[in-house]
Amino acid sequence: MATAALRVGICGFFLECNRWAPVTTRAMFGAALDMAGDVLQAELAREQPRTLPDTAGFVAQMNQLGPWQPVALRMAAAQPGGPAEHAFFEELVSDIEARLRAAAPLDAVFISSHGAALTTESDDPDGELFARIRAIVGPQVPVVAVLDLHTNVSQRMTDALSAFVAYRCNPHTDLRERGEEVARHLHALIANGPGVVERVRLPLVPPATAQLVAPGTPYAELIALGQTHVGGAILNVSLCGGFALADCEKCGFSVVVTAQGGDRAAARSLALDLAQTVWQQRDRFVSRLTPVDEAVRAALDAGAPGGAPLILADVADNPGAGGGGNTVLLLQSLLAAGAQGVLLGVFTDAALAQEANALGVGANFIARFNRDQRDDLFAQPCQYPARVLALSDGRFVGRRGMVKGSQHEMGPSALLDLGGVRVAVISKRQQLLDPAQLDVLGVDLASVRTLVVKSRGHFRAAFDEFAPRERILEVDGPGLTTPNLKTLPWTRMPRPVFPIDDDANWSP
Ligand SMILES: [Zn+2]
Repeated sequence: MATAALRVGICGFFLECNRWAPVTTRAMFGAALDMAGDVLQAELAREQPRTLPDTAGFVAQMNQLGPWQPVALRMAAAQPGGPAEHAFFEELVSDIEARLRAAAPLDAVFISSHGAALTTESDDPDGELFARIRAIVGPQVPVVAVLDLHTNVSQRMTDALSAFVAYRCNPHTDLRERGEEVARHLHALIANGPGVVERVRLPLVPPATAQLVAPGTPYAELIALGQTHVGGAILNVSLCGGFALADCEKCGFSVVVTAQGGDRAAARSLALDLAQTVWQQRDRFVSRLTPVDEAVRAALDAGAPGGAPLILADVADNPGAGGGGNTVLLLQSLLAAGAQGVLLGVFTDAALAQEANALGVGANFIARFNRDQRDDLFAQPCQYPARVLALSDGRFVGRRGMVKGSQHEMGPSALLDLGGVRVAVISKRQQLLDPAQLDVLGVDLASVRTLVVKSRGHFRAAFDEFAPRERILEVDGPGLTTPNLKTLPWTRMPRPVFPIDDDANWSP
């Protein structure tokens, strides 16, 4: 092998799309992450780059493996939301193409991708991006990608890639490791011949609440089973639960296998075997949600003397899957029942947060929730007398779980006391991932009996200290991200599909 430094193009497009959420605009990417050329190049050299951790892991591992040179192309990411504005996506891909041509010849390309994006005009932008990269670099150059395990995988995506590596943890705590892994695969492919990627899609769309990776869950067991087959020709086994709420043709659980040395037969046969095992276990991928009235009774018990800490996960209003973070049914129900010791967070309402910041700590006022959300079906307005307990500019550094060690902002934020229920109101839509989001508002979690989280499951990586897993109830409330899949207005999901339809069937 030549000792010349490998030149590897670095790019990314990272967005998880909920079909029914508002369009993700160019400005939303701009506010989250959109870097190219020299700016991205400089970012890649930093200890804690603002890119996703998979890219940092890839760069660090490549540094260890030998001489190489990263060639920064472009990378864009946004909070989970609705389909991306197509004009922005087209501009992004054209820009990546132009930069690839200018940088030619490259020895490889690395892509950081979520894999469940939509645009306002395309249901497979990830496939489009990968295919257009492949068309420029030609069939011989390795193109490797790290993807979220919630990716919806198309044939177009896998045909264009030489290695496909999905996260194995949910909550997603292994991005850096997966970036390191794909760097090793890249070196293996250069040494041992072409990478091939085979995918088998099942008519199975597990709700997000049934995709937890934790001891004893079906998803954890199947992912572990997949890893027992890695070795020899098989470089990677990815079990992708998918993201049903994208409501598109490629939705479904996908088993994706990468083989080296061009061994497509080995990849295909393993993918089929594993898919069969997943399908046999499909009944385990359903989850029981707790009705709102039952959740309120549990909160009353938790708030009574001797009650143990409780977490109510408002899984149907998860900003981490495109939800608004602003439904009020649980808030209204807890207040009506006179629940005590409740903290609800983080609730997205920029107008309310700004009003509280203008009034100042100690002010008493009428808190009007969702005054600006007339177009949002699920964000019902309501109002309560409240007192401003604390204020913050919303900047925080994660201290536990998925965002540990990285800097984030929630915009102007306020802690409001509604009597028995305190609400942490923020301006920039996001889920509750880290206790630091509450620390900056002066919350002492020891004073909380019931924590209501606007998050589906990623909070679990950080709030295990507050309450054990058996004290977490996933509540069946209203919202854009309901795991109650039978209730959604599907138009593009291929049917029948389990568990929405009872007659779904599959054979290898
Ligand atoms: Zn995910």
